[in-house]
Amino acid sequence: MTERYRPQEIEKKWQERWEAEGLYRTDMYSATPKHYFLTMLPYTSGDLHVGHWYAMAPSDAAARYRRMRGFNVFFPMGFDAFGLPAENAAIKQGEHPHKWTYDNIQRMRAQLKTMGAMFDWSHEAVSADPQYYRWNQWFFLKFFEKGLAYRKKAPANWCPKDQTVLANEQVLPDGTCERCGTPVTHKDLEQWFLRTTAYADELLDFSQMDWPEQVMSMQRNWIGRSEGLEVAFGLDVAGVEQKELRVFTTRPDTLFGVTFMVLAPEHPLVEEITTPEQKAEVDAYVEQARKQTEVERMSTDREKTGVFTGAYCRNLLSGENAPIWIADYALAWYGTGAVMGVPAHDQRDFEFAQKFGLPVRMVIAPPDWNGAPLEEAYIEPATMVNSGRFDGLPSEEGKAAISDYVEQQGWGKRTITYRLRDYLISRQRYWGTPIPMVHCPKHGIVPVPEDQLPVLLPEDAEFKPTGESPLVRHEGFVNVRCPKCGGPARRETDTMDAFMDSNWYFIRYLSPDYDGGPVDPDLARRWLPVDQYTGGVEHAVMHLLYARFFWKAIRDMGLVAGAEPFLRLFNQGQILGPDGQRMSKSRGNVVAPDEQVSRYGADTFRCYLMFIGPWDEGGPFGLQGIAGIERWLNRVWNIVLKPPQLVEGGEDSRRIRHLTHSTIRRATEDIEGFRFNTMIAALMEMANGLSQAREGGAVDRAAWQEASEALLLMTAPLAPHIAEELWSRSGRTGSIHQQAWPEWEADLAREEEVTLVVQVDGKVRDRIQVTAGIEEGRAKELALSSPHVQKYLDGKAVRRVIYVPGKLVNIVVR
Ligand SMILES: [Zn+2]
Ligand SMILES: [Zn+2]
Repeated sequence: MTERYRPQEIEKKWQERWEAEGLYRTDMYSATPKHYFLTMLPYTSGDLHVGHWYAMAPSDAAARYRRMRGFNVFFPMGFDAFGLPAENAAIKQGEHPHKWTYDNIQRMRAQLKTMGAMFDWSHEAVSADPQYYRWNQWFFLKFFEKGLAYRKKAPANWCPKDQTVLANEQVLPDGTCERCGTPVTHKDLEQWFLRTTAYADELLDFSQMDWPEQVMSMQRNWIGRSEGLEVAFGLDVAGVEQKELRVFTTRPDTLFGVTFMVLAPEHPLVEEITTPEQKAEVDAYVEQARKQTEVERMSTDREKTGVFTGAYCRNLLSGENAPIWIADYALAWYGTGAVMGVPAHDQRDFEFAQKFGLPVRMVIAPPDWNGAPLEEAYIEPATMVNSGRFDGLPSEEGKAAISDYVEQQGWGKRTITYRLRDYLISRQRYWGTPIPMVHCPKHGIVPVPEDQLPVLLPEDAEFKPTGESPLVRHEGFVNVRCPKCGGPARRETDTMDAFMDSNWYFIRYLSPDYDGGPVDPDLARRWLPVDQYTGGVEHAVMHLLYARFFWKAIRDMGLVAGAEPFLRLFNQGQILGPDGQRMSKSRGNVVAPDEQVSRYGADTFRCYLMFIGPWDEGGPFGLQGIAGIERWLNRVWNIVLKPPQLVEGGEDSRRIRHLTHSTIRRATEDIEGFRFNTMIAALMEMANGLSQAREGGAVDRAAWQEASEALLLMTAPLAPHIAEELWSRSGRTGSIHQQAWPEWEADLAREEEVTLVVQVDGKVRDRIQVTAGIEEGRAKELALSSPHVQKYLDGKAVRRVIYVPGKLVNIVVR
């Protein structure tokens, strides 16, 4: 029994045995407390890469740990299979998206299985299966019924390369398409929306979840709630029916400082109010603004541009007229699409006024203002001036007083606006869920009756992008009978954005074959919400926000219960290429996991990924550290299989037991906090300590056995194959993955303490209690910060600090 550790010989064997025995199949009806551990499902645009391993292997370790802690853990896996990237990749490969996607799924599933994870494959869900997307359509009908899905014409983000509209969330901060990197433009189209804004306030309540602050703050900013006043300005332009122009402001206290008005170039009034003299210039500007991305338009540091419309509006408070301009920094969808120009107290307005020679009127006086012209806008709250009856009020009181006055006069009302827009879900592309609606010439939009779902995506469609849905040209798909009157009608040809699929995949996992509804209600009651979710922070204002909205909407329909879908979230970092750059095919720095697995074994590769740094930080991939992992696993192998000579009542018992129990404590605390790297470091130290003890001769039997078993149990979640092999080889019965996590005894785990004498220039000034193995740097630091020592150091330069390990720190100042 002195064989060497050869991962390739044991890993496949255990994977097959686990599968045959159904070891990781969750008993969905068990009375044991449930723990739903979810890791984001992979997208099927190509092979599995090392980034998937980086996300999933540590998740698997954490899920296995929960199971050893006595929970009935559900850890499912599936495939996010619809959408642009898969479709684009298929077109590039000259394949049908269906074939391409399902071939990928087969390969990815096989690749995933080499990880040895405890995924319960009997619950796999694939979003491109009709039995899955049928329920997307069903949800859509429910949303429509509740007024949460609607169709309207709107200027939409348009990706000229993908030939489709995009949701706001899918336009990256640099104004490019999240899918392909092309700069996004705008286009007016009839589109389907989900009313995410109906839940804006509830989405701002993060009190029922334990999420990283970063993600919550990104969602908070994205929703962008602001309280203010919507106020009318008088409009008196010959031939224009509309008699007022409404603006939203968070600074009613600056209303007397308005010296111009800015409309978004897309504002419907622009065409009506523009004077004939200004028309050519205005038209040219509108045309050019439409080509800009939103991010370019909102950027604060770019040169301001704009054109005067020739029209004026009247400030009802001051009675003065203000010229109406158009400028691209006003956005049609934000507030009312109009911005009041207060150059004295808004920097953007200030720059605009400077550029076009518009007056700057001070209405909030800076405390030390000497009357000189401003060099930049004064944006702080202070005392109101030049504001008629409101002079002398501090800003906050002024806001309230002006708001009251405006409301009394009937000129406007207090209101709340959000940056969040409704979620645009139509796509003019092939590879997605057909939207289950029919357009009847007599009845308008008519939902497809529930019993006619799914509306199948025809496989024989010509799917290349053209700017309108490819389904438009599929006669058999398009031509239908109206469900209401039976007359000829046309099917909706847009498909749903693939984020619709990922909104609820974790719900479908519970009962992927259930056909009485999206989920078996009994299982939904037992298993939802998700206890722990892991995934990348790049999903903060897309998937993670949409899924929260979706959950709240279907909760209000009685389909699920609870405030939030994902109680606890952990964001892993990103693994980079060996060059420190994001891995991508074009850079040629993608590391394929398969090669590493066949070379080092899955266990070594899993542990290596967990060891390279804190999991939430990610970092560059480089194999420098992998030899250390191999050495450690070999040590574990030898400790379990080749024990030293064992004796009863060995004198090293206490020392070994301390090593065992203090390691259990460290490892437990670390894995609870997803600190796999320090957990592995602790297990390495323990393995080293035990190896040394063995070389020292006979070892206490009970202490050794306790140690080697604890080490093996703690290795199990990280390196499941070797742990199982050693469990079996050492004559233990059952699977190690069904054992309990070891407990530590506080008394044994406690670090031994010693007393350090602290001297200043050779005279004893303090005694401090420290742990026996304290590092030199830490000991010196503690000695220097002792208040008793500080007295003697006061104002003197420390020349030297001498440390005698475990005994003494002498500080030399003389
Ligand atoms: Zn694109
Ligand atoms: Zn009809």
